[in-house]
Amino acid sequence: MHYRGRIAPSPTGYLHLGHARTFLIAADRAKPGTLILRNEDLDTARSRPEFVQAMIEDLHWLGIHWQEGPQPSGKDTGPHAPYAQSQRRSPYAAAFQQLRQAGAIYPCTCSRRDLQGAVRAPHAEDDDEPLYPGTCRHRSPLTEAPTAWRFRVPDGETLHFEDALQGPQHFTAGTDFGDFLVMRRDGVPSYQLACVVDDAAMAITEVVRGRDLLRSTARQMLLIRALGLSQPTYAHADLYLDEHGNRLAKRDNARSIRTLRQSGLSPQQVRDLALS
Ligand code: GLU
Repeated sequence: MHYRGRIAPSPTGYLHLGHARTFLIAADRAKPGTLILRNEDLDTARSRPEFVQAMIEDLHWLGIHWQEGPQPSGKDTGPHAPYAQSQRRSPYAAAFQQLRQAGAIYPCTCSRRDLQGAVRAPHAEDDDEPLYPGTCRHRSPLTEAPTAWRFRVPDGETLHFEDALQGPQHFTAGTDFGDFLVMRRDGVPSYQLACVVDDAAMAITEVVRGRDLLRSTARQMLLIRALGLSQPTYAHADLYLDEHGNRLAKRDNARSIRTLRQSGLSPQQVRDLALS
């Protein structure tokens, strides 16, 4: 089977050593195969065009090249264009309708405040989404009012997968993660929904991403099943940690690829740092 991998940054800041690490591993696994750059710009409040340009430039400088997606020339190349999520709304809407008709999702009117007291999954240090307490589970999917929508997880079912980098994984619905958002109240699809729809549409065979997303993979496996899509294999890379053992935040500009480059480091030096 022809390998198709993807790197999927969100243009909400400059890429840092943590991104470099995951994307270098993804690019390496995609050789020889096809690598796709997907611009995950659905969060319109935080995404900025200058960060899209910067991520394309920084990735190229680092020596990462992709066959499909937005290119430094500004052109979107490949059979699955557009590769920016903000321009791919209709497949998300179709998937949403399919889930709605299947009764797999329900409208949720809870505010952030309502969820403040909800418990968090035990040991979920990498995934801080609280377990949804199920307040709106009984709501009818026939509503026409603008609301958020959640996927109803099969409580007690354990999802298993073999991770190419982390070994065997298992997460139990309702305990390790709860009912999760598929659509925001403003009509923007969630990361989980958009990711699953795009990975299938772009015929991705292996998903490489940071290990902070292991639980999201379990959520996405449920969406894939509910939508009747084919499931890729998974490889979750260890995160880049700073000298205190903490992961990097987007605002950590000292370790952005840009800053390191401006300080005179070569692409090879930044690659070595990222993979150290
Ligand atoms: N846009 C997501 C992120 O930057 C992508 C995660 C993924 O690769 O699925 O975390």
